[in-house]
Amino acid sequence: MRLRVVLTDLDGTLLEPDGAVIPEAIGALQALAAAGVPVCPVTSKTAAELASIMAHLGLTTPAGFENGAGVRHPDGRIELLASAVPLLDLEGILADLRRRTGAPVRSLMELGDGELAALTGLDTAALPAARARSATLPLVVDASWDGALLAALPTQPRLRLIRGNRFLHLQGDHCKANVATRLIELAARGEGEVVACGDAPNDAELLTLADLAVVIPGFEGANPELVRRVPVARIASRPHGAGWAGVIAELLAEARADDAPVSASGGQETGGRQRE
Ligand SMILES: [Mg+2]
Repeated sequence: MRLRVVLTDLDGTLLEPDGAVIPEAIGALQALAAAGVPVCPVTSKTAAELASIMAHLGLTTPAGFENGAGVRHPDGRIELLASAVPLLDLEGILADLRRRTGAPVRSLMELGDGELAALTGLDTAALPAARARSATLPLVVDASWDGALLAALPTQPRLRLIRGNRFLHLQGDHCKANVATRLIELAARGEGEVVACGDAPNDAELLTLADLAVVIPGFEGANPELVRRVPVARIASRPHGAGWAGVIAELLAEARADDAPVSASGGQETGGRQRE
């Protein structure tokens, strides 16, 4: 086995739920770099948020932002996928939804610093990057309005409304898997296995397209909905970054074992096995 690329969610997967990076996760990133395996984050964060996190992680790869809206290239250039709906258009659609449903809905862009910091747990200094959105609009509205808003969505452009932990997300018809295909084109080298790691149901499509799917548990265990949707996934034995690092160590060891010379007792006298 050879690892071709690791596609990974960030929050709760490579990162702790509070966004911290533990030393084991940094060590696993360094081991992947030493083995020549690129790591591409695929996240709901904005491209601006990705920029500082990737610098902190020492990654210079292309990455997927805002739930598969597009690719942030290593030089900072933003590429939107065809299915992404630009922010200005989403804001126009929101104004129309408000008028037609009467829903008391506000977008993340309309929240003051104090309210946004309280809702997201972000420091005030991190708020500009959270507001630097390209093609997803998080909404604050009681979940009892979800059905009415969904029914009032225009049919063109194609849109999705996705209920997350804190927000209802208005976006184009894309998910993390859409951008993963583009990241594989850009970053993966040669033959081998595509690994994908995630912790939540919005990672299911991403994990499904990988050769090796990995579910990273939370402190209360693996997300049952994600495990149900990706039953073939390997489940890490520890939560969050520790689990991520553990699975990466296992996969690198399995790849090394496959590459190691076959011993004389294995029936061959000399030489390494050919790479598959
Ligand atoms: Mg996550």
